[in-house]
Amino acid sequence: MKAAIFLGPEKIEVSDWEMPKISDREILIKVHYCAICGTDVRTFYHGHKKVIPPAIIGHEITGEVVEIGKNAKTDLKKGDRLVIVTSIGCGNCKLCNRGLYNLCPDTKAIGYYYQGGFAQYMVIPEPAVEQNAWVLLPESVSLLDGSLVEPLSCVINAQNYLNIHEGDTVVIYGGGPIGFMHAVLGQAQGAEKVIMVDPAFERLERFAQLFSDLILVDPGKENTIEKIKQLTDGVGADVIITACPAKQAQMESFKIAAPHSRISFFGGLPKDDSTIFIDSNLIHYYEISVFGAFASNRADYQKAVDLISSKKIDASKFITEVIPLEDIVKGINLVKSGTVLKVVVKVQE
Ligand SMILES: [Zn+2]
Ligand SMILES: [Zn+2]
Repeated sequence: MKAAIFLGPEKIEVSDWEMPKISDREILIKVHYCAICGTDVRTFYHGHKKVIPPAIIGHEITGEVVEIGKNAKTDLKKGDRLVIVTSIGCGNCKLCNRGLYNLCPDTKAIGYYYQGGFAQYMVIPEPAVEQNAWVLLPESVSLLDGSLVEPLSCVINAQNYLNIHEGDTVVIYGGGPIGFMHAVLGQAQGAEKVIMVDPAFERLERFAQLFSDLILVDPGKENTIEKIKQLTDGVGADVIITACPAKQAQMESFKIAAPHSRISFFGGLPKDDSTIFIDSNLIHYYEISVFGAFASNRADYQKAVDLISSKKIDASKFITEVIPLEDIVKGINLVKSGTVLKVVVKVQE
């Protein structure tokens, strides 16, 4: 089969790779599409501690079932179209028992520890089969649009904590694909105002045209704190999401937070520079809640599929490029350049 093989930082080669064989408890998938994630870009440039080359990365995967091991415990049938769930837990710890596979201390992810989707075929490994680590795609969702389910599921996991409802003002730092997914999901939850902040303002403006009713703030030209206060009658925002790896955004979020507001640190910070300073009395006196979010679980994938299937979220708006597997490095660089929203690799010819 054809695969994009990660050989080390800045080295991906598209060539022949041995066709994976399944054990009698595994399932073989023909991969159709795999979208490029910001994490894939970081792995390409800097490597990743869980990706040991030679390896096949990619975790925003749609495909179809082509072979089922005779002892695999599953209801899947050949030809079923599905999205693969990324986080596979150990299956035995307290967190796994609660279904929080994403937080298992021994989590092994598809596209990191296990082979990912930048290849024509992949195996659903036995622990993943045991955890039903997939969601079926209904006829109403194309395999291409389905590649948006994984990133959207992560956004859903974050917003599960935030209780966004009618009348809320939501501020999002970061105008990348994840920022826009937060914006659109916030609107779908009934937010009255969605405000996006990004110093790459030209890009923010360009992509905002794909969506509707977004208020944009250019921190290079205006004082974000004053602007948000002005937009909220001096009260501040009900929900703030930092969808960018920026300390500045995390620290500023407390200064624009309304009493009883919820803050989500969706984006992580660089690992050697992840300490921030905040006035903790703001949290105390104003009853501000701060949440983290990391990856997602099966139920979030199912919600993402339902939102796309019911057209509450139009996945195709986020997909600005579809490229062949041969062009994967070009695609990674497009994502890095920030000139696109989602780049999806069409794996089958
Ligand atoms: Zn991803
Ligand atoms: Zn576990």
